[in-house]
Amino acid sequence: IDNARPRRLTILGSTGSIGVNTLDVIEQLGGRDNFEVMALTGNGNLDLLAEQARRTGAKLAVTADESQYRTLKDLLSGSDTDVAAGPSGLEEAAAVDAGWVMAAIVGTAGLAPTLKAAARGADIALANKECLVSAGPLFVDAVKKGGGRLIPVDSEHSAIFQCLEQDQRHALERIVLTASGGPFRTHTREQMANVTVQAARTHPNWSMGLKISVGSASMFNKALEMIEAKHLFDVRPDQIEVVVHPQSIIHSMVGYTDGSVIAQLGVPDMRTAIGYALTYPKRPALNVDRLDFAKLARLDFGAPDETRFPALRLARTALVRGGLQGAILNAAEETAFNAFVENKIRFLDMAEVVETVMDAMVEGVPADTIADVYAADREARRKATEVIAKR
Ligand code: NAD
Ligand code: MG
Repeated sequence: IDNARPRRLTILGSTGSIGVNTLDVIEQLGGRDNFEVMALTGNGNLDLLAEQARRTGAKLAVTADESQYRTLKDLLSGSDTDVAAGPSGLEEAAAVDAGWVMAAIVGTAGLAPTLKAAARGADIALANKECLVSAGPLFVDAVKKGGGRLIPVDSEHSAIFQCLEQDQRHALERIVLTASGGPFRTHTREQMANVTVQAARTHPNWSMGLKISVGSASMFNKALEMIEAKHLFDVRPDQIEVVVHPQSIIHSMVGYTDGSVIAQLGVPDMRTAIGYALTYPKRPALNVDRLDFAKLARLDFGAPDETRFPALRLARTALVRGGLQGAILNAAEETAFNAFVENKIRFLDMAEVVETVMDAMVEGVPADTIADVYAADREARRKATEVIAKR
């Protein structure tokens, strides 16, 4: 880091899995000597948020939960950290003058603050894939208009970003997203029918938040990532492939018109992708485990099964239909996921709910404005809730 002054940054969703890893990377790269933490946000877990704010000397700490304002204020009394809460608090955090913003709030809740940060020209390190899935081209445009950079943090997209030479963009043929296959990779549909939330949240290789862990088990995470890839890299649906690779060592690949395939490899540790997004176009020195090829011995690959994992088929449908179908898939999936973890529906019901809602909303207004996206999001949630109630 060769800037004379500490670099100003904000972490939206600092108390989550990505947020905690981001603070670890910042600590590894010199902490307060090199970085000035402007704003941190969380939802629950106020003790952790307050502790992070004190440790980093953050200028602002925000809880998304309006009713928790007083509690957070008390936890931070006597510190130099300002406190805010609720949607306006999140906006305030996004508006603070930080040149780099980690977007790590989970779900659609991350869209408004991330758009705000993008509009004022911050570089966006994007972990929140839901932004791109639901608002796609509008989100990419907002970043372009703001003048900041959009740097993917999702491990697959970071890998592709690292493999994609801008000078060779004309020769890009395909993107190959790797998928671990999750905890039910070898389950039959019958076995999947009765899995528990606890089984679904146990990822074989990565340690992550609840939603993305369950999404790895259903492969809805990969479905969101296919749509994310389309918008990030401006490729056609038929240029996006998914391959099951249980070891999660190859994080994704890019295939070129000369037959070459370039892959990015590493141990499954999000800090590599976070560090890359933080120091891009340079690379940081990080204390993460190194790959030991002698111990690895083998890497396996297989075709994904769209019968057992219909999420992948639904992503293709959404990609081909375009328009608001990404927003609809995203909102229906979030609603179905919530119902699953609350034991209101079973594991395989999630995809059925999403498909029913997508099909019911094929004819829609075009995705011209963010207001269109929010309207489709609300309607898809309403319909999904209705479908869930009928089960
Ligand atoms: P997480 O559940 O661990 O953390 C989510 C963060 O968002 C927390 O700070 C939480 O307090 C906050 N939050 C939750 N609900 C909120 C709301 N309604 N309003 C405002 N803030 C809210 O999630 P995570 O695993 O860190 O994932 C964050 C994002 O990054 C997701 O979009 C996920 O898909 C993506 N991602 C995560 C990983 C990973 O390894 N964890 C990898 C790739 C992409
Ligand atoms: Mg990923």
